[in-house]
Amino acid sequence: MFANFSTMQEQDYDVVIIGAGLGGLLCGVLLAKEGKKVCILEKNRQIGGCLQTFAFHKKVFDACVHYVGGLSEGTGLNKILSYAGILDRLPLKSLNPQRVDLISFADEKVEYPIATRPFFVEQLLPFFPKEEGALTRYLELITDVVARFPLYHLRVGSAAEKDTVLGLELVQTLRGLTKDERLIQVLAGNNFLYAGVAGQTPFYNHALSLDGYLHSADKVLPGSSQVAKLLWKELQHLGGYIQRNARVERLVEQDGMLRYAVTDDGRKWFGKEFISAIPTSALLSIIESRAFRPAFRERVQAMPHTPSAIMINLVLRPKTIVYTGSNHYWHPSGAVFAKQHLGSIQWPDTQALFFNEDPQHPGFAESLSILVYSSFTHFAAWAESENILGVHHCRELGYQEKKEEFLDSILAKTYRKFPELRGAILARSMASPLSFRDYTGTPNGSLYGPEKNVHAPAQAQIGLRTKLPNLYFTGQNVNLHGVMGVSITAVATCCELLGMEYLLEKINGET
Ligand SMILES: Cc1cc2nc3c(=O)[nH]c(=O)nc-3n(C[C@H](O)[C@H](O)[C@H](O)COP(=O)(O)OP(=O)(O)OC[C@H]3O[C@@H](n4cnc5c(N)ncnc54)[C@H](O)[C@@H]3O)c2cc1C
Repeated sequence: MFANFSTMQEQDYDVVIIGAGLGGLLCGVLLAKEGKKVCILEKNRQIGGCLQTFAFHKKVFDACVHYVGGLSEGTGLNKILSYAGILDRLPLKSLNPQRVDLISFADEKVEYPIATRPFFVEQLLPFFPKEEGALTRYLELITDVVARFPLYHLRVGSAAEKDTVLGLELVQTLRGLTKDERLIQVLAGNNFLYAGVAGQTPFYNHALSLDGYLHSADKVLPGSSQVAKLLWKELQHLGGYIQRNARVERLVEQDGMLRYAVTDDGRKWFGKEFISAIPTSALLSIIESRAFRPAFRERVQAMPHTPSAIMINLVLRPKTIVYTGSNHYWHPSGAVFAKQHLGSIQWPDTQALFFNEDPQHPGFAESLSILVYSSFTHFAAWAESENILGVHHCRELGYQEKKEEFLDSILAKTYRKFPELRGAILARSMASPLSFRDYTGTPNGSLYGPEKNVHAPAQAQIGLRTKLPNLYFTGQNVNLHGVMGVSITAVATCCELLGMEYLLEKINGET
């Protein structure tokens, strides 16, 4: 399988991985555990991709990942991160298991709790006293659907197992469980987690995104970058290497095999195997190979992506806002599937709010992040600029003013639901779709990569293997997004290199 290269260069690796987000890091550790000499090339100074954090007014903020589902015992994610050697060292703080997410609509006072499994039915029943059967069936359906994805449970299976559930659309499926439209809205209320679109999002996307959170929901302290840092430590311990500030600009093929990567400083990185843990469109733009046909390139180029977002970060005055251990998903217009684009007068429709507890004053929040969908086009004037830690090309005049405009209009809406925030803000900042693009490399700052559409299932499909026998794909652009989805995909990619039964047995602790 390995190419037989006659001249070993100084920078010759068994596996070269492009991108040190969760997908790339996890593949690096899993392969280094097998004795492979691994090198990861990362364009940013801070590794982690979506697992980055930043400090603002001396408070730590998550750039993307605010809570992780399914770290508790018995899940695939728990086993994967344990096997990778980091789970017992991850500092975690559980969200309130009885009220992980609170869903609310328009100016109604009621907040519907989405709880972990043991509390799920009892928490919603007071609001929907006639719907016990529907709530129970909903949980059973989630269990049934995720059971059909063999790798989700780290078992060998057949792709055909999931055939019967791939065609289920989210809203129609929920309507099959209950006629209560408000309950349907509540069950779909945290669809920001997977950028749901009514009439289009597959039910399996909802089920696989939420199943983990039904097990457990945790914040990584002080921020999600701990996951990346621990994986990096583990990789180093296993002899692996990460080169930061190294943007891969070219991938060069020789005799039908990928031979080396060229980074922006001109260095060449030779490898026997390569894993792309970056967006597929980005990969295709740097690879010099006829193996990827124009039809494939065009399909990838035309792939609809999930929208981008604006994130507002607020530092709060001490002891002004109570910390409850819950996230909020508020739908100001009353419609649960937000207008994802700014064209709508209702924008910003869905607001997702994530509070951080103040370690100095437990029971109070020290900061808050608010996420709303945003179209890239509103920031397209600055598309040529780049702003990442270590490389700071200032965006032209007008960008800050534009951000202030957005900050004011989003917060004006937030105050409708949370008037107590008005006097509680010490400092505020905003990340635009450009920030997400620059920190992760996703096209136009897309939140979760390609959009899944039940009516066009092939649209978002990218295989783990490529036309080049020594190049593989991993990451949210291939399969599922999220810490859970990307971890499972990293295992799937490594199974391609190591053998599925072999690796799954090891992760399951059977050898
Ligand atoms: C705003 C937001 C909020 C989220 N919230 C949550 C959450 O609360 N819980 C959850 O589970 N999931 C959440 N997710 C999803 C989750 O964070 C992602 O699905 C996952 O982290 C993606 O990992 P990845 O490795 O596939 O990609 P990324 O994290 O995007 O990593 C790709 C890496 O490749 C690098 N790169 C790109 N191009 C190059 C190049 N040419 N050369 C070298 N390096 C390159 C990038 O700099 C980046 O480090 C969120 C995502 C976003 C955007």
